[in-house]
Parts: sequence; structure tokens; C-alpha cells
Amino acid sequence: MYFDLDDEQRAFVATVEAFAANEIAPGAIERDRTGEWFVEGWLKMGQLGLLGLQFPEEYGGSGASILTTAAAFQAFTAGGADAGIALSWVAHSVLAGTPLWLFGSEDQKRRYLTRIATGELTAGYGLTEAGAGSDAAALHTTAVQRDGCWLLNGSKMFITNAPVGDMFVVFASEDRSLGSRGITAFIVERGFPGFSSGRELDKMGNRTSPTGELIFQDCEVPPENVLGKRRQGFAIAKVALEWERFLMMAHSVGTMQAVLRDCLRYAHERRQFGKPIFEQPAIQAKLADMRLSSAAGELFVRRVAWLKDQQLPTPLESSSCKIFCSAAVMHAALQGVQVLGGYGYIRENAVERAMRDAKLAEIGGGTTEIQRQVVGRSILHQPDQHWDRAYTPEQVAARSRPLAEAPDLVGATLAVAELARHSTSDALAAMADETVRWSIPSPAAAGEGEGEGTRCATFSFAGDLVPNAVDAKLLLKDGKLLTKPAEWTSEDGELVAVVKIHGKGQPVNAPRLGPIARLFNAALATGLAEAALDEALDAARAMPDDQIVEFKLADIRTRLDGARMLTYKAAELIQRGEDGLQAGREARIFAAEAAVFCTEQAVSIAGTFRTRRLRDLQRDCHIPASLDVPLTAERLALARSLAGDTL
Ligand SMILES: Cc1cc2nc3c(=O)[nH]c(=O)nc-3n(C[C@H](O)[C@H](O)[C@H](O)COP(=O)(O)OP(=O)(O)OC[C@H]3O[C@@H](n4cnc5c(N)ncnc54)[C@H](O)[C@@H]3O)c2cc1C
Repeated sequence: MYFDLDDEQRAFVATVEAFAANEIAPGAIERDRTGEWFVEGWLKMGQLGLLGLQFPEEYGGSGASILTTAAAFQAFTAGGADAGIALSWVAHSVLAGTPLWLFGSEDQKRRYLTRIATGELTAGYGLTEAGAGSDAAALHTTAVQRDGCWLLNGSKMFITNAPVGDMFVVFASEDRSLGSRGITAFIVERGFPGFSSGRELDKMGNRTSPTGELIFQDCEVPPENVLGKRRQGFAIAKVALEWERFLMMAHSVGTMQAVLRDCLRYAHERRQFGKPIFEQPAIQAKLADMRLSSAAGELFVRRVAWLKDQQLPTPLESSSCKIFCSAAVMHAALQGVQVLGGYGYIRENAVERAMRDAKLAEIGGGTTEIQRQVVGRSILHQPDQHWDRAYTPEQVAARSRPLAEAPDLVGATLAVAELARHSTSDALAAMADETVRWSIPSPAAAGEGEGEGTRCATFSFAGDLVPNAVDAKLLLKDGKLLTKPAEWTSEDGELVAVVKIHGKGQPVNAPRLGPIARLFNAALATGLAEAALDEALDAARAMPDDQIVEFKLADIRTRLDGARMLTYKAAELIQRGEDGLQAGREARIFAAEAAVFCTEQAVSIAGTFRTRRLRDLQRDCHIPASLDVPLTAERLALARSLAGDTL
């Protein structure tokens, strides 16, 4: 599975999580209170190889893939629950280390990168200024050449590791009249004449990460410390920020997991009204939402990592990842405090700290507004920017071929989604058919063999809505044929299959039926969300430069991406023969809600009556939530399955 880890990666990630739990988590509450920089922990991270994880071994790194790196970042906060030191790690290894790795000269890599990788040097990245934040290209710090040296003048604001760092990648303008094209990157050591770091800033969260100003007063930088080419600085800065965007979100996903773990434990221990608060559906729904967010967030992060491992560009995916994960971690942390009630408001609980820490995800490395602008604008011009790179060519081709030719379950879900994109009723019928087809023990045999086979199959969900039922001849439950109509009624939340068999049929694999039904339901919902995006894009092209419209497009696309990835993950798991019920449930809830959300947003852009398809979508977008058990019941079932998993 493309975002999945192999055994070696899993073992490494488990080591990182255990390290964080044993070496970083203890004392985090007290360090957060005092704002202490945890130098011993930092050095241990260097010894474990974390600080240079993604760098080549020849430069002191561990040579890990980007996927492994992202998974390790996630595991660190999942186990360590100290987002501050994680932030310092991002500034050091990603913001400062990545430009050195990708743009540095051989000499610079030997002098600096090797020592960043081990933690011998602590590094930072200086782009933001008091007057230049989101509009970073408007920076005022200047660089002029004098007597064979560069002289830097100006100051930088909000710089992570400024109070403790040994060296910084700093951006200054050679010629402010050139805007972003006049900016050059420099490597500045703390000991350079004219350099100083100003006051340390007292922050709301991430308090174990020291933040401050950098001050340059005729700061002398030798010519060999120009990083990359002259006036290439802004491009370098953007590359670093793009890496930061998704790796910082890997930490956010870990935070969501840590919050969920704490909440699950607390909800079982805390008793009110004579029973654990876990038994209250309102609490279970919050836990299920945390799980949905972390599961989707993990895929957002891993998609970027996977694409980077293929050396493909990822600006849109990184921004999309940040839009989703930053809002999700903020919401999860707020809900975490709510689950703990009054205790959640007290500083000795990790969820209280997580709530303060989480806010930075929506600000640092480019605010959410800037990310929405990037995604909204970009999809207006290039809507389908390689979202399907992770699929095989055969799976992608399934979208435009007859369903029976789908090469596998993933291809079949793509095909159903594509049908739904254009016609809900066609997709409903196909989805019913495919659900039974893929529930037959040997899918390859379906439609083959003697006579007509079993291709003409259909099923019902809990009696709610019965696609193809008019023609149904037989009803099947738990793999058993129910021949009497009296037996056809469904029990609470039970799935009942109606199978119309022409010729010789095969039994349906009842345990597969639940996950597969949810999977195709998710595929249907994903296709409806895609249709909503089509409609929204079409309308938006007539309203150029409307920021609110661009933001809505970004939100639609981000939700749709989450639905696609969760559906794909469920398909892969089921195809591999694993128990895909939880993944199917997650995909179904997320995608069903995405279909409604995306349609509502499309309507708010285009207006209700713009096209016939949009009018239909306003009705059809609710179908995935209406088929099968209600979403509320799905959420509660998800929460109950987590209790078994996580405690
Ligand atoms: C703890 C912390 C650590 C940091 N570490 C570093 C670091 O190591 N290195 C570094 O260089 N920087 C760092 N930063 C700076 C960070 O990247 C900036 O804070 C961020 O980019 C936003 O800039 P700003 O704070 O000036 O906000 P502003 O740009 O002034 O934005 C203020 C508000 O206006 C909105 N806004 C701005 N422009 C637009 C627009 N075009 N459309 C819509 N809305 C807009 C923003 O989204 C925001 O809501 C750090 C910040 C913090 C808080």
C-alpha cells in the first residue's frame, strides 16, 4: 500500500515513539511552565539520528526515506507529547537543514550539515521580520558587499531556536527594488561580528522551543557562506517552507493521536452518573472525530512524503496537508480539553498544553489563509494536479472503462466514483452490483463460468434504500439464502444482501460484505464530492481574483482529497485480505460528510440553480449518509472499536 510502512519502518517508528515516551515526555509539563530548553533531550535526539534523519549518510544523516522521516516525526509527538522540542527539530532539520542539503556547496554541507545532523550545531531559519510575515518577500534586511565580505543589516522576528542556535540560514535583500528576485540566502554563525540574538519571546504554546529575534548590525558574512546562487534566496526560502509545511503537520498528527489516547483513557476512568463517561454517546462521537482526523491527517502527510520520495513536486499537496491537519489538530485539542472537563483546563494535563501548542499549526510556516490561497488559485488553473499518481495506470484506466473490467477493488472504487461524478443513479446501481460482486469469495470468477454467472447482483442496506431491489429475486444474509420474504427484514444496523442470481451463483462472503458495502458507499460519496468540485470550479472561473471563492475551492479540494485517500486506504486493506471494517467505516463517514460539505460550498459559490447537476447534487449528496446505518451509529461503533485498540 503506497502510504503504508514496511516492517523495518514500523520497527523504527516504534523505537522513536518509545524514545519520545521515555526520554522526552517526562518533565514536559514543568519545562512548559518554565519555558526551559531541554538540551539533554536534544542531544539524545542527535545521538539517535533523529536530527539528520532525511540527510544522506555521507553528510552525517541517516539516509531515511521521506516517508520514514514523516512517520518518525509523527511518532515523536505521539509518544513524547512535547510539541515545543518538536518545533525546534523542524526549524533545525527542516527549515535550516533542507536548504543546506538541497542547495549547499560540498564545503557547506561538510562544514554545517554534518554537524546539524548530529546536533553538534543547533540551527535556525531567519525569514520573517517584524514588518514582513505572510508577505515575506517584502523583507527589509539588506546585504551589501564590502571589502570581499557581505554586510547584513536588519533584524528577524519570531525565529525558532534564535536564543540557543549556533547558526542560521538568513534571507536578506541585495536590492529591494527587485522584490523577491533581489533576495539572497546566507549562512550566519552566531560568532560572526555584528550578529546578536535579541530577547526571547514569551509564547502561548510550544514553550519548550525558544523563540526570539536575530539582529544584524554590519554583520560580516564571508563570501563562501552565500547559500545557493545569489538572488536565488526567495526560491530557497519557499522550498524550505514547503518541506516544513508537511513535516510540521506530521507532528500535528502525532499530537492528535496523543490527545485521543489521553482522552480514551480518561473517558474510561472518569465516572459520572454511575458509569464511565465513555459510555455517553456525545463523548464517543468526539473520540471518533479525533480518530477520523488523525487517520485522514496521516494520509495527507504521507501522500506528500510519498510524492517527495518519487521526486515529484508537492506544493499543492503540502498546502492542502496543512489546511487539513492544522484545523484538525486545533479542533482535536479543543475537544480533548472538553472530554477532560475541568481537569482539561488545568495545566497539569497534556491536553491543555496540546490546545495551546496546536494553535501554531494555523500560523507558523505560512498561515492557513495563505495555504488556502495557494490551493484555491492553483486548482483553478490545474484542477487534477497528480492526485492519482499513487494509483497504478490500470487502476486509473478503470475510471473510463466498463466496471466489469476493473482490475481490482481499488480500480472498482475509482470507477464507481467516476460514475457518481456524472450520474448518481448509475453509480447507485453499479455500487450495489459491485458490492456483491466483490463480496463473492473469488471475484475473478464473477461473471465467468457457466452461463451468466453472478454479475447481476444487488443488495440492500438495512432496508433503507434498496438499489436494484425491484428485480431482486433472492435475499442473502450471513452467507445464507433467505428465501421467504418474511425473513427479508433487517435487524438493527445489520446489513442484508439481496442477490439476484442468474444461472449458477456463488455464496457471498458475509464478513467481507460490511467493509465492502461501506467502501463502495464511500466511493459513491467521493464521486459526488468530485462532481461538486467540478461545479464549483466551473462557476469560479467566471469570478477571477475572488479570495473567498478561492478559499472555498481549497476547502472543497481538501475535503475531497481526504475522502479519496481514506477510500483508497480501505480498498487496499480489504483487497489485501485484512479486516477493513474500521477503515471502511472511517472512509464512509468522512466521504459521506465530504459529499455534503463540498456540495454546500459549491452551492455557496455557484448559487442553487446554476446547473441541473448541481440541483441534483443538493439532493443526492445526502444519499451516502442515508444508505446503511446512520452516521451517528457508525461514529459510536468506531469509538467502541478504538477502545479495544488503543487502551
Ligand atoms: C512560535 C513561532 C515560531 C516561528 N518560527 C519562525 C522561524 O523559525 N523562522 C521564520 O522565518 N519565521 C518563523 N515564524 C513566523 C511565522 O512564519 C509567521 O508568523 C507567519 O508566516 C505569519 O506572519 P505574521 O505573523 O507576520 O502574520 P501576518 O502576515 O501579519 O498575518 C496576520 C493575519 O493576516 C492574514 N493575512 C495576511 N496576508 C493575507 C492575505 N494575503 N490574505 C488573507 N489573509 C492574510 C494572516 O493569515 C493572519 O491571519 C514563527 C512564528 C511563530 C509564532
